[in-house]
Amino acid sequence: MALRNIVKEGDPTLSKISRPVTEFDERLWQLLDDMAETLEKADGVGLAAPQVGVLRRVFIMNFGEGVIEAVNPEIVDRKGTQEEQEGCLSCPGEYGITRRPKKVKLKAQDRHGKWFYMNGEDLVARCICHETDHLDGHLFKEHVIRMLDI
Ligand code: ZN
Repeated sequence: MALRNIVKEGDPTLSKISRPVTEFDERLWQLLDDMAETLEKADGVGLAAPQVGVLRRVFIMNFGEGVIEAVNPEIVDRKGTQEEQEGCLSCPGEYGITRRPKKVKLKAQDRHGKWFYMNGEDLVARCICHETDHLDGHLFKEHVIRMLDI
């Protein structure tokens, strides 16, 4: 495993649309392993591939119970709304209150290409929305109701 550099706001990679993953091979696994190490080191809860300069539809999350890997993720259902604090490893030191769905249903593939569904609520739902947005070139700031001074 190796640490990867997290690109920051202003880097053109963050505003591009990522391509689907078609090969579930060692190159993908290396990316996922590197992202896990990078996320742990950065002490974050979510990281998308474009944040390490790779324009592929991949993100990972970790809420303290192990890494969840999502390849070719798609939000297939959204319910309710929440307004909570959000930040981004690509926008260090910046936090804002965003408006997001309260609950989402994620459809994604694992590192071997097997499809799975995952229901997320509150922080998990925010994270799924935030990371999926990265794959379409969007930052959380587009959903911010007000920035916070922390
Ligand atoms: Zn982010």
